[in-house]
Amino acid sequence: MEKEVNNMNSPQSILIIYTGGTIGMMKNPETGILDPFNFNQIEDQVPELKKLGHKISAIQFDPPLDSSNISSDVWVQLAVIIKDNFDFYHGFVILHGTDTMAFTASALSFMLEGLSKPVILTGSQLPISDLRTDGKDNLITSIEIAAAEKGGLPIVPEVCVYFENSLFRGNRTTKNSAENFNAFKSFNYPALAQTGIHIKYNFQAIHYPDKDEKLKIHTRLNKNIAILKIFPGMRENYVDAIINIDNLRGLIIETFGNGNAPNYDWFVSRIEKVIQKGVIVLNVTQCNSGHVEMGKYSTSKDLKRAGVLSGFDITVEAAIAKLMYLLGGEYSYSEIVAHMNLSLRGEISLADIH
Ligand code: ASP
Repeated sequence: MEKEVNNMNSPQSILIIYTGGTIGMMKNPETGILDPFNFNQIEDQVPELKKLGHKISAIQFDPPLDSSNISSDVWVQLAVIIKDNFDFYHGFVILHGTDTMAFTASALSFMLEGLSKPVILTGSQLPISDLRTDGKDNLITSIEIAAAEKGGLPIVPEVCVYFENSLFRGNRTTKNSAENFNAFKSFNYPALAQTGIHIKYNFQAIHYPDKDEKLKIHTRLNKNIAILKIFPGMRENYVDAIINIDNLRGLIIETFGNGNAPNYDWFVSRIEKVIQKGVIVLNVTQCNSGHVEMGKYSTSKDLKRAGVLSGFDITVEAAIAKLMYLLGGEYSYSEIVAHMNLSLRGEISLADIH
């Protein structure tokens, strides 16, 4: 469904894509469960939208989704909507549940190559109908950021997450709190903007595309990946169950500290065998901040020798998205390895690590 919210004589046109999430939910008086409602009701709750002076249009998912139900097919739908509407809007705001917002933001960052306009994901911890909602400010400020220009060009031409006073690069975010209004963190990269009385942009941290870059979308994602989260006491059959998944093409090992894992023979030899079968194996730390440094301790040296790739300071969310994107493309094994060692969309901080 597409509809126009207002049509003021303003130069900035913004497309809101409402996928669902708490921001648009209302408590069912009979069951007490939060159910999604439609965009018209969001609009009724935020009369300020009409005062912003921007031309705002909306596309609504029908039915709106709790973000736990957002699959990679929805990422493809979002990328296609943005591509189809790209020339008609100054910026895009995606309303999305917080639970998987960091995954969607990460995926879109890889799928939208050569992006030159803002794509801002936001949502809220309390429904927009709630008196204490954080949704109003998140929505209004996201629209302002999506519309912001300097010298005729968008200030933040990136896929971002805006939440509670902070604008982050989307593929650096993690949902960090199921309780606080500042639910998201970007542990390894500074905020792109902080909002208070003013919106203060951190221009040095924002990526600007080359002038002649054109948007190109990638919609082929390979879902044959798995995560092996290690823990003290894990058994061989736990590891076997994961590494023997049919058609496995990519494996993220969620390791301790700087990328350490047990160096028992049974563990290392299994990882070696997976790599020999042509699976891309990536080492991502379980820590929120800091990065993988394979070879610093003997408990990571063997992984490096076996051919495990460093995830550097990538988040698990971005690692999943990057693997799906690269494995979905027409790349050879060695090209994928080379790309995993590069920052493709600002998802890793190589300059700080080397
Ligand atoms: N379960 C909700 C969702 O992710 C939570 C939220 O939006 O905050 O859709």
